[in-house]
Amino acid sequence: MRQIIIIGSGPAGYTAAVYAARANLNPLLIASSVEAGGELMNTTEVENFPGFPDGILGPDLMFKMQAQAEKFGTEVVLDDVVSVDLSGDVKTVTLGSGAVHQALAVIFATGSAYRKLGLDDEERLSGHGVSWCATCDGFFFRERTIAVVGGGDSAMEEANFLTRFADKVYVIHRKDSLRASKIMQDRAFANEKIEFVWNSEVVAINGDQTVKSVTLRDTVNGEKSDLELQGLFIAIGNDPRVHLVHGQLDLTPEGTIAVAGRSSKTKVAGVFAAGDVIDPTYRQAVTAAASGTVAALDAEHYLATLPKDLLALAVPAEASDLELTTTA
Ligand SMILES: Cc1cc2nc3c(=O)[nH]c(=O)nc-3n(C[C@H](O)[C@H](O)[C@H](O)COP(=O)(O)OP(=O)(O)OC[C@H]3O[C@@H](n4cnc5c(N)ncnc54)[C@H](O)[C@@H]3O)c2cc1C
Repeated sequence: MRQIIIIGSGPAGYTAAVYAARANLNPLLIASSVEAGGELMNTTEVENFPGFPDGILGPDLMFKMQAQAEKFGTEVVLDDVVSVDLSGDVKTVTLGSGAVHQALAVIFATGSAYRKLGLDDEERLSGHGVSWCATCDGFFFRERTIAVVGGGDSAMEEANFLTRFADKVYVIHRKDSLRASKIMQDRAFANEKIEFVWNSEVVAINGDQTVKSVTLRDTVNGEKSDLELQGLFIAIGNDPRVHLVHGQLDLTPEGTIAVAGRSSKTKVAGVFAAGDVIDPTYRQAVTAAASGTVAALDAEHYLATLPKDLLALAVPAEASDLELTTTA
């Protein structure tokens, strides 16, 4: 049995692992089978993570985080957690391979998935004109023509923010009215750099190396047309990855895992959560990393309160894991 298992390998998970490993807690980190490294694996330049004045490629940053976590003794497993049992002092985590691991503390750092349009070239051009984050990527679109897809508050916020950089910001919306609150609508309508493209949906994103245009379909008459632009920001919502904890942990109205105040403590003792999965607002790599720190420190403090005989079960970790490992 482990003292601590961390689920997720984004900035929150790896930072929690660095802290837990340096506290001699021998963390096991379940990284995912196909999405190890988290959201930053889908981007190119990251220019707002402190410590890299020349910027760093998203995947490079994540490989460095992994190396740092492993250097201090984190064991990283490239598999998916398929179920968890969080009841009792000993938590059980089952992987896609059938392996079963137990721990006294679990940190959820499973992130949040940006909703996609579901178009063929969306992934290919991610980081090359397609983005889900104006705060992250707006700076790359100075004096460009770009578009935001969506009609809610976050789409209006992104569009307004992007006018600081872009010459022109189209807002493409499927209907002829917005879902956004009145104040956000009014701000967008008053912004002379923003032009609304009503009753339109994006059906193709065009460009070999970078985005050159999008193809729109009129939702009323079905007619297609092309709109030239260099950037497409998709702001149609995001879904915190919480399917593992339904019925076991409380969620907030925004769908994130509920934690107490500024801590990472969920309603279940020994279960912590960090990063975008608890954050409906900021969703940045550095805030996720900071949140991972909080979770590791909370877990460390929790473990220190456990009776010695319970803690003794968690050592040595490797031998206990082997005993529990089964095949599906
Ligand atoms: C295209 C793009 C560009 C961005 N650019 C920037 C930027 O320039 N600067 C910036 O600060 N932020 C940027 N962001 C935001 C940033 O990536 C996120 O805020 C950050 O990655 C959140 O970290 P996290 O650790 O909470 O979650 P994530 O990075 O989402 O990582 C969560 C991890 O958990 C794993 N996971 C989920 N469920 C399971 C499971 N059941 N079993 C095992 N593993 C699981 C996932 O596969 C993933 O690896 C960008 C986001 C996107 C999408």
